[in-house]
Amino acid sequence: MNIASLLERAAKLYPERPALLHGARVRHTYGELGARVAALAAHLRDACAVAPGERVAIYSANAPAYLEAQQAIHWCGAVTVPVNYKLHAKELAYVLQDSGARVVLASPELREAALEAGTAPDCLRVLASPEWERAASGAAMALHDSAPEDVAWLFYTSGTTGRPKGVMLTQRNLLAMTMAYFTDVDDVAANDAMVYAAPMSHGAGLYNYAHILRGARHVVPESGGFDPAELASLAKEVGHLSMFAAPTMVHRLVAHLKQTGQGGEGFKTIVYGGGPMYVEDLRQALAVMGQKFVQIYGQGESPMTITALSREHLAATNHPRWAERIASVGVAHACVQVRVANSEDRDLPTGELGEVLVRGETVMAGYWNNPGATKQTLRGGWLHTGDIGSLDAQGFLTLRDRSKDMIISGGSNIYPREVEEILLLHPRVSEVAVVGERDADWGEIVVAFLVADGEPVPDAELDALCLAHIARFKRPKHYRWLPALPKNAYGKVLKTELRARIG
Ligand code: AMP
Repeated sequence: MNIASLLERAAKLYPERPALLHGARVRHTYGELGARVAALAAHLRDACAVAPGERVAIYSANAPAYLEAQQAIHWCGAVTVPVNYKLHAKELAYVLQDSGARVVLASPELREAALEAGTAPDCLRVLASPEWERAASGAAMALHDSAPEDVAWLFYTSGTTGRPKGVMLTQRNLLAMTMAYFTDVDDVAANDAMVYAAPMSHGAGLYNYAHILRGARHVVPESGGFDPAELASLAKEVGHLSMFAAPTMVHRLVAHLKQTGQGGEGFKTIVYGGGPMYVEDLRQALAVMGQKFVQIYGQGESPMTITALSREHLAATNHPRWAERIASVGVAHACVQVRVANSEDRDLPTGELGEVLVRGETVMAGYWNNPGATKQTLRGGWLHTGDIGSLDAQGFLTLRDRSKDMIISGGSNIYPREVEEILLLHPRVSEVAVVGERDADWGEIVVAFLVADGEPVPDAELDALCLAHIARFKRPKHYRWLPALPKNAYGKVLKTELRARIG
């Protein structure tokens, strides 16, 4: 089955419904979107000679044509290679060479970078250009009939360790992930609107399928990204907004709404994930916006789908384990199994920390052209996530950190997250990231990078806060204040960059 059959179906069932909006303005109905995508797919096949199974890159910030490009690649049976638009031309060149993508669909401002990366001019198509528009109104092709195991999406990992690897997601993976949205995240109604404030080249872009399936609206903000004031006004104008947001985005959105005396009106669901959500931030978010939140934990290798913490669990404030639960990432999605294992892949007892392993319908087929890494990561038939966590008796998974972020000081393991949670309790600490610094005596010492809300807090006050909550050896040895934490395009804090500053 081809995942674009969801669009074909929606175009037939709901041709008049608004499908694609730019800001609050409707660009295309489902009928129009279906016809444009089928015509763009024909253009890829006929004018660019794209064959089924061939990789086609999209190199663009969020834009309405992004959704068209993604669907058109699916429609003709090719493989979507979404490239982070913030990548340098050299990094793009690596992705193109590794994936073998010959054809690049780029936004106008990235045209030159795509050429610099080695794209042949006749293999470059510029999104929303006059040529694109002509192609979109051309003759349609019939939907390519894909097999469930055909690769549909080749997602390059951010490459914080070594070269980025291409995660092969099959048609079956994408369909299972879409169904998992309905079983464990949220239902979607026809008048809902998925707003793409986080990059469509990443997880946010994968939430299009569930919304196409229901014939709901897709909203691309005019800014092309995340702007809290713009989102607040879209919530008023468009209404029923759902979005995927990194925890750092939730933090900024909530701060804006609070500052401007607004609440959660106009928002339906905010799915957060992709990095740790601190309990203090979550409490604020629930207080300001209400029960609008669902958490997911996933990774490129099992996209958006490992565990979920439901709206119901977040709302059950009277539950005796509520405080622990909201600090967890929830329970396994219905379509996957989750275990916590030791270094020999043996199950660990409840409560013990180990590596999180996953098996199920959403787990990738492997890494593109990289049998060694595939074998290592999928050994024994289980995805080895590299994340450290523990399960409780009801199956709630609490993540600590990625194994590489763990600090070992004087022989003791320190999980940065635990220290970060405490520092955030201070009302003048707005953001924090804790990393290890090499030290001759201790192996590593704990260093906290902080962003102040107002005046920075004296070290002694932060020391006292830590000593009141956590063991003495976990207390940071140095506090460093920054105007902002370095983050990647997906809003994740770049701990590697922080480590480099002190290294
Ligand atoms: P990526 O493959 O770039 O999406 O990154 C996936 C990684 O982000 C995971 O392996 C986790 O380390 C982290 N992550 C994803 N979701 C969560 C979450 N809800 N809480 C904490 N960390 C998360």
